[in-house]
Amino acid sequence: MEKVVIVGGGISGLAARYRLSRQFPEAEITLYEKSGRLGGCIESSQDPYFFERGPRTIKASRSGALLQLIEELDLQSEIIYSSKNARKRYLWVDQKLRSLSSFIPKLIPALLREWRQPYPWAGDESIASFVERRLGKFAAETLFDPLTLGIFAGDIHHLSISACFPELKAMEQRYGSLTRAFFKRKKEKKTKGLLTLKGGLQILIDRLVEQGKGAIHVNTPLEELPKERTILAVPSSVVPSFFKGDAVVETFFESVPSVPLTVVNIAFKEAGLTPQGFGYLVPSKENETILGVVFDSSIFPSQDQEGETRLTVMLRNGGREEALSALKRHLRIESFPSAVHVKTYPHAVPQYGVGHLERVDVFKEHLKEHYPHVTCIGNYLEGVSLDSCIKAG
Ligand SMILES: Cc1cc2nc3c(=O)[nH]c(=O)nc-3n(C[C@H](O)[C@H](O)[C@H](O)COP(=O)(O)OP(=O)(O)OC[C@H]3O[C@@H](n4cnc5c(N)ncnc54)[C@H](O)[C@@H]3O)c2cc1C
Repeated sequence: MEKVVIVGGGISGLAARYRLSRQFPEAEITLYEKSGRLGGCIESSQDPYFFERGPRTIKASRSGALLQLIEELDLQSEIIYSSKNARKRYLWVDQKLRSLSSFIPKLIPALLREWRQPYPWAGDESIASFVERRLGKFAAETLFDPLTLGIFAGDIHHLSISACFPELKAMEQRYGSLTRAFFKRKKEKKTKGLLTLKGGLQILIDRLVEQGKGAIHVNTPLEELPKERTILAVPSSVVPSFFKGDAVVETFFESVPSVPLTVVNIAFKEAGLTPQGFGYLVPSKENETILGVVFDSSIFPSQDQEGETRLTVMLRNGGREEALSALKRHLRIESFPSAVHVKTYPHAVPQYGVGHLERVDVFKEHLKEHYPHVTCIGNYLEGVSLDSCIKAG
């Protein structure tokens, strides 16, 4: 391998650069990043309160590739695990904050029915259709709708079960029932909980930059496909511009549009303004402006400075005012915030519609045949998590 160009300096591009420089020490690698900073969505700051402006948690049980990378980069001593409190989750339903566990009694009849309802279904379908079929409308509207909003900021009636929650589809196929699968898999030992890095996920970016090899040019957007071997690690909204006039590529990216998201990080001087827990999500039927709130101080208290309350409000539209108004109504937080940071992602999360995985196969085949020197990686293929981005590289 001689020259390799990497386009994009987010986690996908930087992890690919690190891997390549390990596997092919002789290769001449050059990475181009459009903006003035590296990390893409990942951005940790300390001004003076600790904020993650993008991703913040790594799910231990589903992040094998990421944990392996953390180990290779000698960052294990930086890992911090979420507090026990973070297991508690809430929903904003009927004008009240309710713990997720309070919905279990309402679900029991559906779970018992589901146990005896072997109904393996081979094809893809929407999340709503899958959950309604297995667990009924209540579970779809009250639990899976907010869960899907929390991860994908998307609509359960449009998004694909196979692409968004492949493990659920696999459970149905393997065990014939989700309830049965749950009890069978409870016996398997799995690493539980969430984790992050002490100084924030930005440390992962800094270490990848340090330990990978090859020139990095920031403030240098590429506009055309290089002739050399190329790894395109740019967001899905940008990829089609590298393949102008290619109908197959255009059709694929039209099928996976991204939705916008605004992240409002807020710190209050007083401690303990939120309940103990991970945070809460808001089902669509509540018609609220916010998607949910993450209780950062409760999840990773060691990232606090001096006993403040740090939290993050996620919104599809709106910013500071809408976030503060929701906190007032939902959590009765009336205090004046000590710090607020607003970041809007115009193309935050790619939306995997029904049939997405088959379309990914067609897209990959097309690339192999027509652009054999190009590899596309990123969160628009087989998962939006950091772990999926790293696996793709
Ligand atoms: C608000 C938010 C919260 C999230 N929370 C979590 C979480 O808690 N856990 C989790 O696992 N995942 C989370 N995710 C998902 C995860 O953060 C992303 O999927 C992942 O960071 C995407 O990384 P990437 O490198 O593929 O893309 P990006 O981070 O978007 O990086 C792409 C880079 O390409 C650059 N670029 C664009 N155009 C060009 C060009 N023409 N030339 C050169 N460079 C270019 C961009 O400037 C950018 O730096 C979250 C995402 C968001 C938006």
